[in-house]
Parts: sequence; structure tokens; C-alpha cells
Amino acid sequence: MSEIFDQINPPARLLMGPGPINADPRVLRAMSAQLVGQYDPAMTHYMNETMALYRQVFETQNQWTILIDGTSRAGIEAVLVSAIEPGDKVLVPVFGRFGHLLTEIAHRCGAEVHTIEMPWGEVFKPEQIEEAIKKVQPKMLAVVQGDTSTTMLQPLEELGAICQRYGVLFYSDATASIAGNPFKTDAWGLDAVSVGLQKCLGGPSGSAPVTFSERYVEVVRKRQHVEAGIRDAHHQDSAGQIIRSNYFDIPMILDYWGEERLNHHTEASSMLYCARECARIVLQEGLDACITRHQLNGDAMRAGAEGLNLKLFGDQDHKMTNVLGVYIPEGIPGEAVRTAMLLDFGIEIGTSFGPLKGKIWRIGTMGYNARKDAVLVTLAALENVLRRMGHKLPMGEAVDRAMAVYGQGQ
Ligand SMILES: *Cc1c(COP(=O)(O)O)cnc(C)c1O
Repeated sequence: MSEIFDQINPPARLLMGPGPINADPRVLRAMSAQLVGQYDPAMTHYMNETMALYRQVFETQNQWTILIDGTSRAGIEAVLVSAIEPGDKVLVPVFGRFGHLLTEIAHRCGAEVHTIEMPWGEVFKPEQIEEAIKKVQPKMLAVVQGDTSTTMLQPLEELGAICQRYGVLFYSDATASIAGNPFKTDAWGLDAVSVGLQKCLGGPSGSAPVTFSERYVEVVRKRQHVEAGIRDAHHQDSAGQIIRSNYFDIPMILDYWGEERLNHHTEASSMLYCARECARIVLQEGLDACITRHQLNGDAMRAGAEGLNLKLFGDQDHKMTNVLGVYIPEGIPGEAVRTAMLLDFGIEIGTSFGPLKGKIWRIGTMGYNARKDAVLVTLAALENVLRRMGHKLPMGEAVDRAMAVYGQGQ
């Protein structure tokens, strides 16, 4: 028996977790635009515009600033699988779950992966990373900027010069932090950056903007020549090994986005419309203004959380603007609070995993939801739920403290 289900009609939710968040309505409208052919001049024009927009979002002059079709980890895999040959050394400073993801993916690429670790809730000092680079002498340093699992933001500005000094490729996954925290690809000397749309860029997941330096492109293109050699079985240059993925073969993807327009995959047009609109919205607001808005709303949420008599998690000097970690108070059932928030108020806040499982909630203020009304409504609802579950708190304090951050104190 075949069944025909109802139309998709999701419940109204306010997504205040660590991502995904509610998409900006303009992004949803852009995604619903009609398709055009892959080589229609309209389409190739949109592709070029998307490259130009993301150069501004990444603060780079890199020609090669494109989209990888897939979620954020598609961007990560593309960067790593195209650059890493089996046996290459990769250094990953791990300060949360996504550092482990970089480690895992690099390992699958055949890398000899070296890690250094910080306790969750802390970040590395540049000296610690430099020391590990000296010792390991990796081909690549792969580091997360904002790790939503711990809410920490790793400072990157000094790492580019260090990588340059030791001839190391510098890659960062800035999925969770871009457009909500400063990120300067060129000024900080990055060779590869990958992100996603579902955090501060205000879109759904499914497209991974990336940018590559000349140096990175040189490294991956060298491998493509070898592959071409293998393909026509003429010469067997041992300069590099074939890239072990067709879908994530960056030299081939660059030839598709470049003037040659060599066919690779069929561009995911609706996601391209979406990614283009995400960047356009951020740049129309102004990148700096967008970051300041994340800072303001993040500060308001944090002040409000303190007003709820909640203890803050992690090194507050290195917190991402757009996610807040708070300890679940002693004796309060963490999951029951999240369920009441969702079912009574339609508001989602985040749980956590690994060493923080059952210990903290994570509350996001990002992208379209980095807004005063979203912050105030979340705090008011959380106050009600916490009070009814027996948590002691000063009534009305949370919203008042957030209001004070918005300049509306009493
Ligand atoms: C949220 C997040 C991702 C998400 O990856 P997906 O493949 O889109 O699920 C990746 N990296 C970091 C640092 C993140 O915070």
C-alpha cells in the first residue's frame, strides 16, 4: 500500500540553539526561484557574482572563492582530500568536537595526524601551536575558529605568520563563526577556509563556501597533472598521488567555476541562489555591522542568563559572540527544560555532547535570530520554565538585564 502524505508544514519554531537557525525569509524566497540551465549566461553570471560576494565575506582577494555543494563538512572534506596525500603530516589543535572531526577526516585522507588538546572551554595560545608545528613539521595546520560544541573562539590572527615561517599550509573551518566574529582571510594569512550557511549567515545547511590562496591551489593542481597523466597512461610522474575523490576534486571544481567551465557536477542551483542571498544580506547590512549585531545580542543573552541565576560556561574572554554555554543548575532536569521550551513555547535551545553532555545548555543568537525580540522572548520563556521546575531566580531580572544591554535599563 502506498501512502501519500500531507504537504510539508513544519511547526512554528524559534531556533535558539547552536545551529541550524531559522533562515532569513529573503533566503527562502531566493531558494524558490526557478532554475536555469547550467551554462545559461544567467547562471554563470550568478556564479561569478557569488564568488565576488564571498570574497567580501571572507575578506580576501583570492580568485578561487567558490561553493562546494554539500553541508559544511563537504567543504572540510574537499579542502583536506584535495591537499593531503597519504603519509602527509597534518596538525590539528583540538579544543572541541569539531577539532575531532577535522582529525577524523584528515585521518581518512591517509594523513599522519598529530593533535594537541585543550580542555573543553579553553583555547590555545599561539606559542603552544608554534611549538607543536616546530616539533611535528606538518604539511598543514587545520584548526577550527569557532567550535560550537564548547562556544570557544580560537584566536587565529597570529597563526598565519607562524605557518609562513615554517612553510605550513594554514586551513580553518570557520563555519560557526563567520559573519558573527571577525575573520580576515588575507590579513591573517590563511591558505584555505571553509564555512557553511546555517550559523551566522542565516541560511539552511547544504552549501559550503570556500576560499583558497594561490599557494593552496598550486599544491592541489600539482596532483591534478599527475591524475591527467594516469588518465591517458602516458607518463607516470611521481610528484603526487591521485585525489581520492571525484566529487571533492578541487582542481576539477575550479575548472568548472573558472573561465573554462569544464563540466564537473551539476551546480546545485537552488543552493547557489541561497548562498548568494545569504552573502548579499550580510554585505547589505555591512560585515562589521553584522558582527556588531551578533556581539550585542550575544551580550544581551549572556546578561540575561546571569539574571536567570545561571552559571556561565568556559573562558569568557574567548567566547564566540553567537553561542552561549550555561551550566544546567544542580537538581534541574536539563532535558525536561528543553522539552518544555520546545513544546510550550516553540523555542529550541541546545544540549551538548562529549565531556559536556548533560552539563550545559547552549543558547545561540545567530544569523536571522540575532535579534532583540528573539533574545527577550527566549529569556522570558526560560525564566518561566526554570521557575516552574524549582530553580531559584530573581523574577523579571533576566529580561531587565538584557534590556539594559540594549540601552533600555531602568
Ligand atoms: C556547525 C558546524 C559545522 C557543521 O557541519 P555540517 O556538515 O554542516 O553539519 C562544521 N564545523 C563547525 C565548526 C561547526 O560549528
